[in-house]
Amino acid sequence: MNLLIMGPAGSGKGTMSAQIVKDFDITHVSTGDMFRDAISKQTPVGLEAKSFIDQGKLVPDSVTDRMVKERISQDDCLKGYLLDGYPRNLGQANALDEITKEINRPIDLVINLVVDYEQLVSRITGRRICKECGAIYHIDNNPPKVESVCDICGGELYQRSDDTEEKLAVRYQEYKNLTEPVIDYYREKGLVHDVNASQDAEAVMNDIRIILEAV
Ligand code: AMP
Repeated sequence: MNLLIMGPAGSGKGTMSAQIVKDFDITHVSTGDMFRDAISKQTPVGLEAKSFIDQGKLVPDSVTDRMVKERISQDDCLKGYLLDGYPRNLGQANALDEITKEINRPIDLVINLVVDYEQLVSRITGRRICKECGAIYHIDNNPPKVESVCDICGGELYQRSDDTEEKLAVRYQEYKNLTEPVIDYYREKGLVHDVNASQDAEAVMNDIRIILEAV
């Protein structure tokens, strides 16, 4: 099963993705995580991506498409993959069509997480992430047992540099202008399942599970 998960920043893509790949034994491919990893390792891709990410802007398609092609061609994606954060514009959607044709691993279904803007602001500004294992917390809704320490691995929690209200506004505008047309593109193909992601995480995951178990 090859899936896309879509929705604006703060809609819960990361949290839901972690649960989906665990329950359905597929591989999580997050372009945001790949870029952050490349930046921390100072690879050529990381150096190119950093200034775009710092501004809340999209990294150029040429860099992103190449990175995704390499990643989903790997053997661990043979059992199925969940793409999170890609495609984010119509050019990337066309590139993904080409890539999936070439490697014969087509998209089966798109999960679209729907949340209103006010809720995104509170989720994003309160979000904290573990430096070690990537687990996601929220200072009010899902705090760790000990402040700034991951419950799972004891790693230190940090706030992403683009998780501010100001940068969210830019990211949300990019989402509206560039990414919503991608959802329409897949909707026309009959692949999109909308999920009410304003609910608590457990209820959202239940709705997703019902959709995926029906496939
Ligand atoms: P995310 O973790 O998905 O919110 O992504 C963080 C940042 O990485 C985005 O704001 C973009 O700057 C960059 N990024 C992630 N995925 C893509 C993509 N598909 N195309 C271009 N830039 C991306």
